[in-house]
Amino acid sequence: MKVVKPRGTRDFPPRQMYERNHVGQMIESLFVRYNYQEILFPTLEHSQLFMIKSGEEIGEHMYVFKDKGGRDVCLRPEATASVCRMFVDSLQDLKKPIKVYYNCPMFRYERPQKGRYREFWQMGVELLGSGGCEADFETIYLACKSMEALGLEFTLEMGHIGVLRNLMADMGLDERVQDKVIYYLDAGEEDKLVDLVGEQTILDLVKLEGSDGILEKAGDVLEGYARAQKTIGELSDVVGLLDAQGVEYTINLGMGRGLEYYTGIVFEMRVEGLGAENQVCGGGRYDGLIELFGGPPTPAVGFAFGFDRVLDAMKEQGVVFPEREVDVLVAPVNRGVWADAFEIVSGLREDFVVEIDLLNRKLGRILDHGNDLGARFAVIVGPKDLSLGEVTLRDMSSGDQNTVRIKDLVEELSERLG
Ligand code: AMP
Repeated sequence: MKVVKPRGTRDFPPRQMYERNHVGQMIESLFVRYNYQEILFPTLEHSQLFMIKSGEEIGEHMYVFKDKGGRDVCLRPEATASVCRMFVDSLQDLKKPIKVYYNCPMFRYERPQKGRYREFWQMGVELLGSGGCEADFETIYLACKSMEALGLEFTLEMGHIGVLRNLMADMGLDERVQDKVIYYLDAGEEDKLVDLVGEQTILDLVKLEGSDGILEKAGDVLEGYARAQKTIGELSDVVGLLDAQGVEYTINLGMGRGLEYYTGIVFEMRVEGLGAENQVCGGGRYDGLIELFGGPPTPAVGFAFGFDRVLDAMKEQGVVFPEREVDVLVAPVNRGVWADAFEIVSGLREDFVVEIDLLNRKLGRILDHGNDLGARFAVIVGPKDLSLGEVTLRDMSSGDQNTVRIKDLVEELSERLG
């Protein structure tokens, strides 16, 4: 009986895993240089964690089920709620700001298509405990630098949920209506706003999109709404810092995010060549979430890369992945030398990627296999050489061979492999 994998999930063969790990390590090394530390949280969470504030969109797409004890649990659909729960549980005593990152699979029961999976990986950061524009800036800047490090062309779009929420609060719209407005904006259903709120100022604000003069225009639209106007100031502070670093962006004051917990700046990054699912990164500020989970008021900001889409984008944009390298193939010429060959292999594996023939093949076949592997050198272990304390070292690309004393082998290989 053939059992297939669930729809929207994928297997990753070795070559793909090699590429994924390579890209993951590049991003991770940047996160680490920004002084982020890795964390992990459960794949399984109580459904309630995401029902509280992650929003309708996530709620609809969650994998929820009852465990054997009758509890409502789910496969995590995103990281931020888990990180906030974890902060309340165990991170509160750490010195602030707390900077953490993760790289793990998320699950959403969506209609699978190119770039949209039911199991997909997110790699992201959360910066907990700073409410300032400098934290917003550093987070956004890190996202941009990560894209650059991978050689990806991208666009950055920023909005500010707080401007819209403050405006709506000043107009007396309750939080439920506010959430709905933001949901419609995220879903690209602006037309529904007219019936829902009808207020011209809101409709004018969410249309403001572009690069030059948008914040000034917003200031005019928000005339008379002091709180919302002040919030525009927060956005211009971040923009000022991004300008100083030469980061390019557009501003979209009608940007909603599917996740309901955002309170401040929000941003998305897109890339060319991925079709409809071209958003590779989403993030923003969520100052109220930790408190909502029973923690002390703690401002926070973060982002997540859709890791699968980042990889797809690199392929689309022609970024070349390095080949995996096998440095040495060890070829025992007969069973009689196996013990010595395995000892040599064990020594070489301290420094190099080494394969040894495990199919008891003839020398010619072993060398063919070495070519298939792309091995740079073969070490041929035969009884005559061994009796002199030597092996034969063969350069697989030129075919040149010479004998080398076993005790000098590591040094010789180090030199020749560079
Ligand atoms: P979100 O948590 O919805 O803000 O998503 C953050 C990022 O995760 C998005 O920008 C996408 O790149 C990625 N993403 C979200 N949903 C999926 C999915 N179903 N399949 C693949 N990537 C996804």
